[in-house]
Order: sequence, then structure tokens, then C-alpha cells
Amino acid sequence: MFCPECQSEFTSDVSFCNDCNVSLVETLPELETVSWSPIKEYLGYIPAEMAKAALSDENIPSFIKGDFLSTAYGIKAWDAAGGKAVLFVPEEFFEKATSIIENFSVNN
Ligand SMILES: [Zn+2]
Repeated sequence: MFCPECQSEFTSDVSFCNDCNVSLVETLPELETVSWSPIKEYLGYIPAEMAKAALSDENIPSFIKGDFLSTAYGIKAWDAAGGKAVLFVPEEFFEKATSIIENFSVNN
């Protein structure tokens, strides 16, 4: 079993990555070939999600990793700790994503 976020490998009796708070998957998706870079840290899930949507409009893949419980459970236990959310993009999109996010932040 693999963690889709940190890509650690676990034995088959493990189904949850405690480091990332996500459920393990049997095979890694394309993440294994992509180098993800943290691009920006947000104090909250919603602004991170808005930035992710702005990137998605430009066809830039991204994911959010936070201190909150994984959306794998359909729960955003976000209010618990005033946690932060970190937005990741593939390294090759880093510069483009940075300029999009900076423009996006200014406009908002
Ligand atoms: Zn993990």
C-alpha cells in the first residue's frame, strides 16, 4: 500500500498514513512521476482552495496539504486547529503558478 501524498510504502495491513492523514492506495497515481513543490502557505483551507481553482483554470495541476483531516473522509475538520494549508504544484509549473497566484492574491 502507498500513501498518495508522501508516497511512502506500507505493508498491506496498513490502510492509513498517519503523517498525512490520508487513506492509502494500492497503486500510486501519476504523482510518482511528478516532483511537487510547495508554492504557498495559506492560513485556511478556503483561500488555498481558491488558488487551486485559479491554477486549475490555467490547466495547472495542484493539491493542497493541510493540518486538517483528509477529504478522503468527506470531512473538512478545518476549524479544529486554525491549521494551515500548503498548496503544491509540479516543479515544471512552479514559475507560471507563482505568477498566477500572485496576480490572484492582488486581485483579491
Ligand atoms: Zn503519507
